[in-house]
Amino acid sequence: MSRKDMPDTSNSPAPISYVDIGAQFAQERDELMPIIEDILKSGMYVGGPWNEKLEAALAKRCGTKHVVTLNSGTDALILALAALGIGHGDEVITPPNSFVASTAVIAHVGATPVFADVLPDQNIDPAEIEKKITPKTKAIMPVHLTGRIADMGPIREIAQRHGLAIIEDAAQSIGSLYDGVPSGALGDVGCFSAHPLKNLNACGDAGFLTTDRDDVAEYARLYRNHGLVDRNTVTRFGSVSRLDAIQAAILHFRLGSMDTVIENRRRNAALYRELLDPKLAFMPPCRDIEFNTFHTFVIQVDGRDALQAHLGEQGIGTAIHYPVPIHLQPAAEYLGHKAGDFPVTERQSQRILTLPVHQNMTEADVRRVADVVNRFLASAV
Ligand SMILES: *Cc1c(COP(=O)(O)O)cnc(C)c1O
Repeated sequence: MSRKDMPDTSNSPAPISYVDIGAQFAQERDELMPIIEDILKSGMYVGGPWNEKLEAALAKRCGTKHVVTLNSGTDALILALAALGIGHGDEVITPPNSFVASTAVIAHVGATPVFADVLPDQNIDPAEIEKKITPKTKAIMPVHLTGRIADMGPIREIAQRHGLAIIEDAAQSIGSLYDGVPSGALGDVGCFSAHPLKNLNACGDAGFLTTDRDDVAEYARLYRNHGLVDRNTVTRFGSVSRLDAIQAAILHFRLGSMDTVIENRRRNAALYRELLDPKLAFMPPCRDIEFNTFHTFVIQVDGRDALQAHLGEQGIGTAIHYPVPIHLQPAAEYLGHKAGDFPVTERQSQRILTLPVHQNMTEADVRRVADVVNRFLASAV
């Protein structure tokens, strides 16, 4: 008997978790386990056909000439920067409200992260990018936060006018579209994560990059495998950033259900948008030009911490992406920023709350979360 069939003996409804990865595995177990078992029997844990199969399927999906599978989204970003020759003395413009990896990778290759504040929808503000360009600027790295694509029309125009590369941090936006173009095909390189919490997820760390550029793809292919051009020849020292065969096979399998995952998330998000009181919870308006995959569903509210605590007491899991802006992290101290430098980001960091939106939520789950949020916010006014 599943939890849902059990007679309701208490007054408190079943908890609604922020993610439910166990349920995902339960649904696919019968089909997925034989694939994994075949790989285990074959002994081909690093090489084998799965990475090539996955790369071909992803290239079709992302609309780029090349896909290079890698061991994480972070390595995809590092290899994108390195392949474009970005390093010491160079500047890369990026928003300060992302997951720390977006900024850390710029520092990792020896370049300087330069922050540009964001719009009400949490994505980088093109007007702020323009103000931050110097002779040292080499690239713009927009982050498609929450699964909503940054305002790429103006960003592409700015990049073109100033001769800058675009690296998309597309870690949260697999399947998202802007003006019909998939994320990952909107700049020079797209960098994706397939971490367990992303919409297309492996059972461990995983990632890949997308590009139409032969030089970038070749750099990444060599670097991920020690720089080996053949078994015994190294033309440029590399490292190990390969994706395991088992993770590649799992991602190839899950690509088959990705559209259902996205549709369910979009359905949940649409219902939230219909039910939540827009006077009390800000939700960025949807744009005609976009197809948003809702990696996260974020509301912006006064009294965020009290609301989160209340939802927790009601058994509803939430998260905050992210409570501390990157420019205020101890690691960023050397950049010399202070509170007040990026007011939109800082204000949002106090107000954002990520509600559960995962594909296994029922309509009743969404209605209950919306109801608890509305009631609490109305009572707090
Ligand atoms: C998840 C994420 C990353 C890092 O991806 P990993 O696969 O965990 O290395 C980078 N940027 C953003 C915006 C992310 O959400």
